[in-house]
Amino acid sequence: MPTLRTGKQICDRGLASSEKRAALDAVAARYAVALPPALADLIDQNDPHDPIARQFVPDAAELDHRPEELSDPIGDDAHSPVEGIVHRYPDRVLLKLTPICAVYCRFCFRREMVGPEKGKAMSAEALMHALDYIRSHRQIWEVILTGGDPLVLSARRLRAVMKQLAAIEHVKVLRIHTRVPVAEPARLTAELVRAIKVKGKPTYVALHINHPRELTQAARAACARMADAGLVLLGQSVLLAGVNDTPEVLGDLMRVLVECRIKPYYLHHGDLAPGTAHLRTDIATGQNLMRALRGRLSGLCQPTYVLDIPGGHGKSPIGPDYLARTGSNGAAHFVVEDFNGRRHRYPPTAGARGA
Ligand code: SF4
Repeated sequence: MPTLRTGKQICDRGLASSEKRAALDAVAARYAVALPPALADLIDQNDPHDPIARQFVPDAAELDHRPEELSDPIGDDAHSPVEGIVHRYPDRVLLKLTPICAVYCRFCFRREMVGPEKGKAMSAEALMHALDYIRSHRQIWEVILTGGDPLVLSARRLRAVMKQLAAIEHVKVLRIHTRVPVAEPARLTAELVRAIKVKGKPTYVALHINHPRELTQAARAACARMADAGLVLLGQSVLLAGVNDTPEVLGDLMRVLVECRIKPYYLHHGDLAPGTAHLRTDIATGQNLMRALRGRLSGLCQPTYVLDIPGGHGKSPIGPDYLARTGSNGAAHFVVEDFNGRRHRYPPTAGARGA
């Protein structure tokens, strides 16, 4: 079965009613659409609220743009000194090799930049300039390959880029951001895994996964091939209304990630990307979910809940606060909350527990 890219293909596959076809085509004319078989097969056609469909089947609500939404919500453009590079933080850069993804998420924070209409994979000349930029900035300790999705590129192309990056003495760590292991697990062949595992430089792979059902047997096998090869796996999830905004689903997701040797890293608050209001939660919901995870789930299963501050100001943790300072001068002390919501004075007063 081919990847679904049009309203007709999605309707013919039974993933939307034919009355919705015109709206689907209108969305597809505005934002890239691709739904590969591995994810289309996961959708329960009898469930109008299926969490996989919510993430990947276009919705007429995407044409509803809110005043607070931004075409470049995390401010990549403001920090791009040369084509393909985003240099926001001092010690690391993003390297965007391609605007193409294996699947187009309906909430994508780079939806105005990704897709076949948004450009081509980086040319050899642009890559040469991007590598020159990295070589000439000795403070760059980490290079993050993102996109689009770098793992849609051929093993040959990836091997060449990884080798050139690994040869830069001051670059100590390489990282790849991808959704390919869940969207097209068969692409993670032994050859592709060898291509991204360079000698002498640790390589981290951050996998974007939002619902436990995305980790099918094929996806788990793809992750296992990477972990067995010595790649370090991290989980990045986006908090999405109707997808993972309950303690049960979010907790299951974090546990399944850890079971697959993927350390939950970030839980992203939904960015202000255009036409995505129907998938965003509010921050209070995210904080309550993080409280629900704390203590109920192993520390291995705790991501950091973060907001990418609009305008390109970077990420800040926005999880619940467990610590408050109280009193003044010599009487100042802290009050810290445990996972049951009970509060304790720190340091405790002699002979007392709790506050
Ligand atoms: S895989 Fe990442 S870059 Fe591609 S559409 Fe999804 S969120 Fe956007």
